[in-house]
Amino acid sequence: MKCWVVLIYYYIYKSFTFQLVNKFDELLFTKNDENFVEAFAIFCGMGIHNTHMYEKAITAMAKQSVTLDVLSYHASASIDDAQRLRTLRIPSSVHFRLHELDFDDIDMSDDETLSACLRMFLDLDFVERFHIDYGVLCRWLLSVKKNYRNVTYHNWRHAFNVAQMMFAILTETQWWKIFGELECLALIIGCLCHDLDHRGTNNSFQIKASSPLAQLYSTSTMEHHHFDQCLMILNSPGNQILANLSSDDYEKVVKVLEDAILSTDLAVYFR
Ligand SMILES: [Zn+2]
Repeated sequence: MKCWVVLIYYYIYKSFTFQLVNKFDELLFTKNDENFVEAFAIFCGMGIHNTHMYEKAITAMAKQSVTLDVLSYHASASIDDAQRLRTLRIPSSVHFRLHELDFDDIDMSDDETLSACLRMFLDLDFVERFHIDYGVLCRWLLSVKKNYRNVTYHNWRHAFNVAQMMFAILTETQWWKIFGELECLALIIGCLCHDLDHRGTNNSFQIKASSPLAQLYSTSTMEHHHFDQCLMILNSPGNQILANLSSDDYEKVVKVLEDAILSTDLAVYFR
């Protein structure tokens, strides 16, 4: 091809111009030359477009990681609060009536609900068996509690009651022996986390209001969000109660957590 191909990129107008100039030996441009330039323009245009998209994606990912970092800092309970909870004496499960199906938390203080959760983890032997750092467990529990909003029903007390019911079922039926330790751990964590950051509105509200959450997840909108929040807290520094599990065990726990939390969507449940 005996010609000069000039590519001019106008940064300001975000457009490209190709120009063919000064063909050698005063030859005329042919249809072939036109075809070549057209193909070359498409090729260059796609290349430059992809580079721009890549740059935008890198910036978006950096923004997301900064936002997540800030979010997980504010979502996490303070070390001082965790230290205070850590020093509390934890009464027995009989004292709290944790094995009873007619258990009632109405007379319990918030500290007592947290102590009762610690008691469940201790009695199911999770702390010993999975080498959970006790201080980290205290902070994780406080962070979970902090990430429940003050709504009428789907609040921390609801999560606590669901966990107590799971504990009573697992221990009184001896099902813990059938499920195994990993699944029991996932179920108790799942109960405590299954309504995290609930806003007091249901999935169809999210969809009708075209909320960002509904744009992220078109089905089981809130349940996906509860699961995401659950993972976010589990991965926040100082809250990593699953840090000492092998990667295989960690994956199994997360899989049960995902199944269990997504199953709390009543639309799925009734089907
Ligand atoms: Zn619930």
